[in-house]
Amino acid sequence: MDLIDTHCHLNFNAYKDDLDAVIQRTLDAGMRVINVGSQSSTSQRAVDMAKQYPGKLFAAIALHPLHLFETYVDEVEIPFKTREEVFDPAYYSNLAKQPGVVAIGECGLDYYRVPEGVEEAVFIKKQKATLLQQIQLAQDHDLPMILHVRTSKEEPQRAYLETLDVLKHVGFNNGVVHCYTGDLETAKKILDAGFMISFTGIITFPNAKELLPIVQYVPMDRVMVETDSPYLAPPPYRGKRNEPLYVQYVAQKIAEVKGLQVSEVEEQTTGNAEKFFSLK
Ligand SMILES: [Zn+2]
Repeated sequence: MDLIDTHCHLNFNAYKDDLDAVIQRTLDAGMRVINVGSQSSTSQRAVDMAKQYPGKLFAAIALHPLHLFETYVDEVEIPFKTREEVFDPAYYSNLAKQPGVVAIGECGLDYYRVPEGVEEAVFIKKQKATLLQQIQLAQDHDLPMILHVRTSKEEPQRAYLETLDVLKHVGFNNGVVHCYTGDLETAKKILDAGFMISFTGIITFPNAKELLPIVQYVPMDRVMVETDSPYLAPPPYRGKRNEPLYVQYVAQKIAEVKGLQVSEVEEQTTGNAEKFFSLK
């Protein structure tokens, strides 16, 4: 198995007790991973891990929109409370120069829940301003972006469309929309704008069948696979902690939906990730 988990968080506390063992079985399977930062501390940790395992573990660094406000986050399965952080361009620019850093991310727009005591307009304005700063960071360092987009239940496409608007406004399209859960029409807009789309184990969930026509639609040279570990474990492990090895279930589902061999999906998505993140 030569898969690349293009989005996971082995840099998060969920792995603090057995990180070495998780990394070891990931590497034993012939895999490489991109550890994605969500704030200054986890970005730094992703960079440290990339230095420790050069050519195997890579890092993406950014400030996730949820960390712009102090808020309680009900992530699927693992709830947590975020601390408020202000984006510091100098700090992240220094990190971006470190070896093993292959992307700016995850950042983007998250409209899922407006924190208590915050006005919606302020909530959105601050996110867009911080996204723009991070696009600048990606441009300065010639790195692709890993985009996090989460919509509100009431307006299920709005955060996607507004993320695209912000990126179009500055003419940037070297990015991947991670953990895609929007509709087909929005997926077409994302692809037309030149972005990649990556899927998580959500496509294997029995209650996410509406995503399968999108999996079917996305061309093989525009798709990547990811786990978003420790979140979103696929059905055999649903409710448990996810890990990079389980990215194989995502590849299997794509193969099943597209009527391809799993090996073809592995080869193509790995090639896409190598090219997108300039891994060799
Ligand atoms: Zn993530």
